Amino acid sequence: MLQGKDRFIPISTGEEIRKTMSDPTSEFGQQAAPYMDRGDYIPDELALSLFHSILEPLDPQSRVVLDGFPRTVPQGEQFVKWLERQHHQLLGCAFLDIDTEVAAQRMRDRLVCPDCRKTFPTVAGLPAGERCADCGGCLIPREDDDPVRMRQRILRHREQTLPLRQWFRDRHGWVELDANRETADLRMELVDRFNL
Ligand SMILES: [Zn+2]
Repeated sequence: MLQGKDRFIPISTGEEIRKTMSDPTSEFGQQAAPYMDRGDYIPDELALSLFHSILEPLDPQSRVVLDGFPRTVPQGEQFVKWLERQHHQLLGCAFLDIDTEVAAQRMRDRLVCPDCRKTFPTVAGLPAGERCADCGGCLIPREDDDPVRMRQRILRHREQTLPLRQWFRDRHGWVELDANRETADLRMELVDRFNL
């Protein structure tokens, strides 16, 4: 949502996990697979090791949007300590609140490229031949976009993030936004609230 003219690098934890899982030699992938297969989130230790492996090689001047991390208070604590050690600035945290039904509909309305993991909303019209506009991969429904797992993910997410929401609210420029709206509206509000 903040890609493009806002010059943010989007990092989706879920997508990064799926990417590493598609490499059968990846040790991380093997550790994460049982959790992902059940529709669960990976444990803190694994989430933190993934986070470090993605963030540490980046240019320290990069502007990054983390999607799906941190998810728990221990992850949040480690994350904030890491930011301080690295002298990075936290511009803000947003909780995007969405109804289960709206989320389900959006998942039904998208395809993903299995090669580069780019997502394409079907409502906007798919690229020619249902192939990825970036790398030409054949677009497919996302591996975990089935209704049962989706519901489980949303419920777990609510339950798991409740303490984290409280923890952030008390500390670090926290906002909760209604994500049932159009993406463009939501984007405008984010830019506005965080002075991006
Ligand atoms: Zn692709």
